[in-house]
Amino acid sequence: MARYTLLDILTYWLPSHATAESESCWRDQQVSRVHVCQQCGKSYAVHRSLWRHQKFECVNSMPKLSCDICNYQSPHKWCIDNHKRKRHSKII
Ligand SMILES: [Zn+2]
Ligand SMILES: [Zn+2]
Repeated sequence: MARYTLLDILTYWLPSHATAESESCWRDQQVSRVHVCQQCGKSYAVHRSLWRHQKFECVNSMPKLSCDICNYQSPHKWCIDNHKRKRHSKII
């Protein structure tokens, strides 16, 4: 375990903590490594941004949910729940 210290591992995995030595290497990787959303084609330099986009933003990556009472549609389940509570509060 003498070869890699915890700091070495951290600088490898966390770009913001990169040392000057490894920074240029990381920059090259970042330029060439563009993360593209397969659903809508949006691209992000950082994988975390793409992950957040797909999880919370990308409408296309989510199944279209619809209200089972009327024809209201939304990709978000909480929108449907909200809608049901507002529009069909007697039933829900
Ligand atoms: Zn997308
Ligand atoms: Zn409805």
